[in-house]
Amino acid sequence: MRWLRRPRAASAPTARPTDGAPDQAALADARERMVAQQIEARGLRDPELLRAFRRVPRDRFVAADFAYGDQALPIEEGQTISQPFIVAYMTDAARPRARADGWRGARALDIGTGSGYQAAILAELGARVTSIERYPELSHAAGVALEAAGFPDVALIVGDGSLGYAENAPYDAIIVAAAAPSVPEPLLEQLNPDEGRLVIPIGTRSHQQLTVVVRRGDEFHSRTREPVVFVPLVGTHGFPS
Ligand code: SAH
Repeated sequence: MRWLRRPRAASAPTARPTDGAPDQAALADARERMVAQQIEARGLRDPELLRAFRRVPRDRFVAADFAYGDQALPIEEGQTISQPFIVAYMTDAARPRARADGWRGARALDIGTGSGYQAAILAELGARVTSIERYPELSHAAGVALEAAGFPDVALIVGDGSLGYAENAPYDAIIVAAAAPSVPEPLLEQLNPDEGRLVIPIGTRSHQQLTVVVRRGDEFHSRTREPVVFVPLVGTHGFPS
């Protein structure tokens, strides 16, 4: 999950006091800088979105020392989590435009729970979040982090996200944090006909384009955005393992 257009060097690790515990004030400062320099300065201005990124403690979901750097980070099971800007960009692209309340009360499906950070951002925005992950260990760890960060209501599912999760459909927004060779049919079916939005990287295992699909009734409008690199979506409508 790298953003190919404006690569930047890794930021310096966040300072630690001598007792080895992360310094909360330093983390809060780093989070503010992340929002200002990596998200707002690059053109994402939705106040609700910026507020959510200011509030969710990313350091609880990924290694605290590198949590606020401008880079993708490794998590367990050989997976990677996107740099903050990509999470913000995808969230912004998925924002339910047809609903008067925007994210508040919207149904969101997060595919590829990973660390749980994207799910936390969606929950902070007020969405009712279902998040699906194929590795039980990752899902479990994400659950612990989500609980600790104050998001106990995210529905965590272990399974093949390329099939979506029909039980909680239709979704106003579906965000897929793993790359697929083409748009999985079940995800289209589970989108809200009233402008449900799907954001997904489509391409090969090594290169993809971020793709946004908007559903209006039985019509689907698809637009291709940034070139990106995500880990593969492994499953029935994804890549073989
Ligand atoms: N959104 C995450 C990052 C996800 S990384 C975060 O905020 O931390 C992509 C994740 O997709 C990995 O954890 C990987 O295991 C998962 N994944 C890959 N294929 C999947 C599938 N078919 N169903 C569910 N999860 C899948």
